Amino acid sequence: MSDCLFCKIIAGEIPSSKVYEDDLCYAFNDIDPQAPTHFLVVPKAHIPSVSAVTEENAPIVGHIFAVIAKLTGELGLESYRVVSNIGAQAGQSVFHLHFHVLSGRDMTWPPG
Ligand code: AMP
Ligand code: ZN
Repeated sequence: MSDCLFCKIIAGEIPSSKVYEDDLCYAFNDIDPQAPTHFLVVPKAHIPSVSAVTEENAPIVGHIFAVIAKLTGELGLESYRVVSNIGAQAGQSVFHLHFHVLSGRDMTWPPG
């Protein structure tokens, strides 16, 4: 999608701090980290949010969670939080599906 920030990052048109990449997804450090470790994992295909996940594209989401398990394991992160905001009221600011992975500090519940 031509005017999507994360599509541009995936295409290399906007620089990012890459954590991981494969055929289906891309992971990079958040530009405004909210924890000592804070990276985003996004599908390479443009999917606007969890609201647009279907039976057809859901395997990409499963793959992303397998990648999150692999990356956090490699990083030695035993405790972390995975967050996806859906819609502006929930805090979504980039409308390309992404999963925040946050770790390295105490976290509160419920989230704000
Ligand atoms: P959300 O608000 O849940 O849609 O998350 C979007 C995230 O993208 C925020 O945590 C931003 O800090 C992050 N972000 C925005 N622009 C960039 C960028 N150029 N590189 C890395 N992360 C970014
Ligand atoms: Zn996109």
